Amino acid sequence: MIQGNLASQEKSSRQKIYADLHIHTNISDGLLSPEEVTQICEGLGLSIIAITDHDTVGGIKPAQQSSKNVEIIPAVELSANIGSLDIHILAYFIDYNNGELMDYLDDFCQHRMARIFKMSEKLAQVGIRLDPDEIVRMAGSQALGRPHIARALLKYGYVHSIKEAFIKYLGCHCPYYVPKKEIHPKRLIQMIKKWRGIPVIAHPGILNDENLIQRLIDYGAAGIEVWHPEHNSLQEKRFQEIAEKNRLLMTGGSDYHGFPGTYNRLGQPGCGRKEITAIKEYQKIYLQ
Ligand code: AMP
Ligand code: FE
Ligand code: FE
Ligand code: ZN
Repeated sequence: MIQGNLASQEKSSRQKIYADLHIHTNISDGLLSPEEVTQICEGLGLSIIAITDHDTVGGIKPAQQSSKNVEIIPAVELSANIGSLDIHILAYFIDYNNGELMDYLDDFCQHRMARIFKMSEKLAQVGIRLDPDEIVRMAGSQALGRPHIARALLKYGYVHSIKEAFIKYLGCHCPYYVPKKEIHPKRLIQMIKKWRGIPVIAHPGILNDENLIQRLIDYGAAGIEVWHPEHNSLQEKRFQEIAEKNRLLMTGGSDYHGFPGTYNRLGQPGCGRKEITAIKEYQKIYLQ
């Protein structure tokens, strides 16, 4: 099945794309392995990609080892929150061997695992019987999340689609939702900088709150994700203006997860040489 998926992705790409700085693998909640993702990117002719799994850096080395022609930027998409609001910060060029970062991620992922059990328990109270041990086993992931529960809901016929699973059971306003471990974005941004990463506000269009975006900039975000599948052209334009006004880096990526739906086209959107040059310059000047 995956082979078919690879072939169709390679064939359907006509335009030359340069970089995709937002990609998930099955090390977090994506469906394809880092090696499979890298293989597709090679086929698409992408020059640079970033593996940005949620709260884990486990996919970076396998991607780097399997890649011949694609440069892999080490990265991670870290979760923060203010109350029930989920905020994602991309961290590029992070020192992914740093012991303190590893401890932080291990602890965060243990909470993610406990959350699978807590949400399963809440669902069991209304007669939805899922086996959390099976969810964990099937996922084979280092960073378990709601998509893994959604796949079990689909497998056992409680929903007809992943989308329905999120609407009925997993959305943050549903009674079965359990938030992730608490960490304020101000603290997270400071920690990313300590770990020599470049903090970039992920999909600001999903946040859809300019005051909050400004707060994240004031906390020290160095960049903003301008190009993302959830952004329309007006939002792209607005985020470029915000970037210029605040002298921020601009990034873009597909937020690829490998499952059918919105986030399923590697390199679409992506970003160009100009943005890659800027982020590499930033890394050299500020973080070396
Ligand atoms: P978590 O990190 O466990 O809170 O899960 C968030 C992840 O769920 C996101 O990164 C997406 O991969 C996925 N997700 C969120 N909302 C939806 C949705 N409406 N449909 C499908 N996947 C979603
Ligand atoms: Fe995800
Ligand atoms: Fe995200
Ligand atoms: Zn993402």
